[in-house]
Amino acid sequence: MPDTAEPTPAQTLLQAPLKAVLVPLDQVPDPVFAQQTMGPGIALEPLEAQLFAPCDGEVVHLARTRHALTLRTDQGCEILIHLGLDTVDLEGEGITAHVTSGDRVRCGDLLWDFDPDLLACRALSLITPLVVTSNDQWRCELAETSSPGSVIERGASLMTLVALSDRLPAEAVEGSNNEYRDQVTLALAAGLHARPAARLRGIARQHGCTLMLERGEHEADAASLTALMGLSLRQGDTLTIIARGSNAAAALGEAAALLTTPEAAEDDPAHDEPSEEVSTAVPAGDATTCHGLVASPGLAVGPLVRLEHPRLEVDEDREESAEEAGRQLKAAIRALNDTLVTDIEQARAEGRREEADILEAHQAWLDDPALLEESLAHIEAGRSAAFAWREVLELRIVELRQSQSRLLAARGDDLRDLQARLVALLVPDAAAASHFEMAPGAIVVAEEITPSQFLALDRVAPAGLCVAGGGTTSHVALLARARGLPCLAAMGSRVLEIMAHHDGATVILDAQQGVLTFQPEDAQLDTAREQIEQARVRAAAERRVAHEPAHTQDGALIEVRANVAGVEEARAAHGAGADGIGLMRSEFLFMARKQAPDQDTQRQIYQQALEAMGDHPVIIRMLDIGADKQLDYLALPAVPNPALGTRGVRLMARHQDLLDVQLRALLAVTPLDRLHIMVPMVTEAAELVAVRERLDTLAQEMNLEGRPALGAMIEVPAAALCADQLARVADFLSIGTNDLTQYTLAMDREDPDLAGRADVLHPAVLRLIDMTVKGAAGRQCPVGLCGAAAGDQQAWAALVALGVEELSVEPARVAAVKAGIRRLDRAALARQLRTWLDEAIDSVTLRQRLEQWLQEHASTSHTDAITTDATTTDRGVPRDAT
Ligand code: PEP
Ligand code: MG
Repeated sequence: MPDTAEPTPAQTLLQAPLKAVLVPLDQVPDPVFAQQTMGPGIALEPLEAQLFAPCDGEVVHLARTRHALTLRTDQGCEILIHLGLDTVDLEGEGITAHVTSGDRVRCGDLLWDFDPDLLACRALSLITPLVVTSNDQWRCELAETSSPGSVIERGASLMTLVALSDRLPAEAVEGSNNEYRDQVTLALAAGLHARPAARLRGIARQHGCTLMLERGEHEADAASLTALMGLSLRQGDTLTIIARGSNAAAALGEAAALLTTPEAAEDDPAHDEPSEEVSTAVPAGDATTCHGLVASPGLAVGPLVRLEHPRLEVDEDREESAEEAGRQLKAAIRALNDTLVTDIEQARAEGRREEADILEAHQAWLDDPALLEESLAHIEAGRSAAFAWREVLELRIVELRQSQSRLLAARGDDLRDLQARLVALLVPDAAAASHFEMAPGAIVVAEEITPSQFLALDRVAPAGLCVAGGGTTSHVALLARARGLPCLAAMGSRVLEIMAHHDGATVILDAQQGVLTFQPEDAQLDTAREQIEQARVRAAAERRVAHEPAHTQDGALIEVRANVAGVEEARAAHGAGADGIGLMRSEFLFMARKQAPDQDTQRQIYQQALEAMGDHPVIIRMLDIGADKQLDYLALPAVPNPALGTRGVRLMARHQDLLDVQLRALLAVTPLDRLHIMVPMVTEAAELVAVRERLDTLAQEMNLEGRPALGAMIEVPAAALCADQLARVADFLSIGTNDLTQYTLAMDREDPDLAGRADVLHPAVLRLIDMTVKGAAGRQCPVGLCGAAAGDQQAWAALVALGVEELSVEPARVAAVKAGIRRLDRAALARQLRTWLDEAIDSVTLRQRLEQWLQEHASTSHTDAITTDATTTDRGVPRDAT
């Protein structure tokens, strides 16, 4: 029965909109609600399938997907009711709304019918938050009977809204549906850089509202990337988010969540550098040297050649009308956007993630209305479209270059790229930057270099690259690393000054120590050339036999497979001689998308990966999400320590739908006997058994006779300790040393301060690996290794000595690792290793001993390989990537 208590005019009573169990908001498994980003309130776990209006009011917004609505009470307080969690993805399926935006409702009117089974299976949860979004003007007081965990009957008193009248001028109530504010502290380690800025813009668009960020006196509209980045927001800065428009409350919540949630490492451009402070400390160098940050490691010798930035020659004044010039500019922007869209799709489809990310950032810049507006103003003032665009971007580039943040300064390269590409579309003759006249083998010095210039430069095969500006996180640095081109960045203008006196002179670029040496002594040159030549000869010899199986000196066959993220890398792996794919991280297919790839999209990619590998086996790891790897569309519960939370196989148990789609896609490939499915983050045999049962059920539904092999990753100590039990139910085991080391040593793999100590050669990790191999041996269950240790010479040698029979490494390292195996006497190292482990030495000592032992006992194999293990290219000697 409805409660009949009479609230005062400054109060509004809310009745329970349905029979439900009451859940405190902070226990809602969605950080946006749990952290009250959208406001205070309560959540309801429904016990019936209809939801009614909790008070009189107006439906000011009903989501297009019907899963959420905002109700404004007659006193002007807005309440958001969110039917279930992650229900937006259902696109309205299972939900019938009986009201629409603008409807007036009476307390107790039916708002929704919903299908609880469908929602429970397909969404994250049925839990329905009821949140007071006008919380700067209203506070909510839970009814005394509304205690957490209790069952509330529909119509019972739920809470009272009390107006904060002293903070509520009349016009604020009037406009409360239009503007929402929230003060937040920026949690993004790299500050507000291009990708989150682009996401903010996306949130504003998705909700059709305006999002502003305010910091002190400065304000920026999220529609403008340049304005957002112009705020130079850094981690820890306090700012205000202002959302205006009909769906502003939801936009505000999403924007706040984005800015207050630390980025996953994959997304974080500062990910691979310790901190700005550390890395800006580039020593000045003496008369013959100039230092820089290692953007891409390696060693090279060659003539110094300056890369000039040809100024884009364009006519300043326009001949056509302002309308025509404006039309030309907009058409060029559209054309460039179309090209970028195609390039992004192609890069994603071929697994070139870095390139796709870079192009996406370019697309976001290109879409910046501020750049267009300012260019049109120049055009109005009589300038040509190309001139206008060039000048507007030039100004922004200078601003970014002068920024205190190296991260922002590095984005200047991206704008330079857009400047050149768009001008080239408007004035094809101005596209002087598209090719370079230069002999191969040069050490190129550039003040700055854009990503597309880098790709053009790469075609003339330079030996190395020195950049006065930029940084280790610039997109050019990523590209240089992907291609193995030695590169130093942030060398300062000194490199350009010295360059002026050494044009064409031979120099040594040591992109391991971060030094460019001018006027090197003959002996220095001889040593460097000798190292490069040795590496070149060795790499060529190793590549020639990379397709042959690798046996140790004492006759053990060790398979060297590849770790890949997509089809393109699988092809590279096959070309590099990999004996199969040891780990395909399928989560990369799920990242950088707005929703999970459907079954057919997944099937095609898995099938292509299988086809890329000829007759070799392919291990595809099931979706491994959680901790450092997040999906925008899969909100995980906010827990204090996500690395110990719901992730890997634990997540699959809660998202049966994701599991089923992926398993069906995997089962649809042929031939199934070459497909091996691997389950991540397993802690007990029952988890693997559950996946196998599901696999069987689906295979039966699909009328399949065969079954793919099913294996478990050994990534947590529990799995290693119970390896014998796992081996009973698994067809293979694969040791993920990255996580196994992290969890064994309790050292976060993302923590740069602990990076030097989190060593797989720690005796505790080695003991767990030893247990794994022994536990599996009794069951004839093969054990592989797919963590980074597989490419770390001392580590893989030790683990092979312990009995690991398959290593999975980056495609570029396959040849070198196979060569190393051929030089190794596994039995001899196994004997030696046992005595070292009995001595209880630490990982540093063990590493030194292993290095020495491997050098002393290296047998020359038929590759004529020398003992140092390094991935090499013909260009130089990239440092060992371990
Ligand atoms: C590992 O943990 O070693 C592993 C291979 O998995 P990932 O690095 O993807 O967590
Ligand atoms: Mg792992």
